[in-house]
Amino acid sequence: MDLDATDAAILRCLQEDARASLRTIAKKIGVSVPTVSSRLKNLEQLGIVRGYRVLLDPDRLEATGVALVVRTKPRAADEVARRIASRAWARRVLTGRPGWILVDVGLGHREDLDLILEEVSALPDVADVQDYVGLKTVKDEPAVLPSDRLTANVPCFECKGPILGEPVKVRLDGRYHYFCCHTCERLYVEKYGRIRAASRKHP
Ligand SMILES: [Zn+2]
Repeated sequence: MDLDATDAAILRCLQEDARASLRTIAKKIGVSVPTVSSRLKNLEQLGIVRGYRVLLDPDRLEATGVALVVRTKPRAADEVARRIASRAWARRVLTGRPGWILVDVGLGHREDLDLILEEVSALPDVADVQDYVGLKTVKDEPAVLPSDRLTANVPCFECKGPILGEPVKVRLDGRYHYFCCHTCERLYVEKYGRIRAASRKHP
């Protein structure tokens, strides 16, 4: 599903400064405050904006960045990657080539690395772990959105399947809900109505 230039502009503003006010964003990109507000609510609801975090400078905190290359049995890679991803020190976990996992590790103390290496090596089906310790951070920033034409991967709110082409869009309680087809839309709207009716009876 496509996002337009306004959505992209809002996302770019927030990537520069997640604490920018709605008014500041509106002024910067030339739209009204309510527009920014409703677009942002929508982007949050779609899971495109997942949160607002603080960016810390790793070098000033003497934190160390480490990359791990983990090799597993090809079929075990997804499971091993999930286990690694569940750990707080794993900042980013990528799989791709069968049996290869790349892990971006954020370390508070250099000494913690030995424990992490031990832990990862002990996971079932892990054949090998290599570590690359960074000494200086050259760049550590979220990627900037490249263009005004973005395509967002939003699953159908009812069946959770992919939405191919234009989504069926319904506004409920001031928010958009997205569906792959009219059947899903009908099912969802019925369910939504029942839930609302129930919550009115038992507030
Ligand atoms: Zn659906």
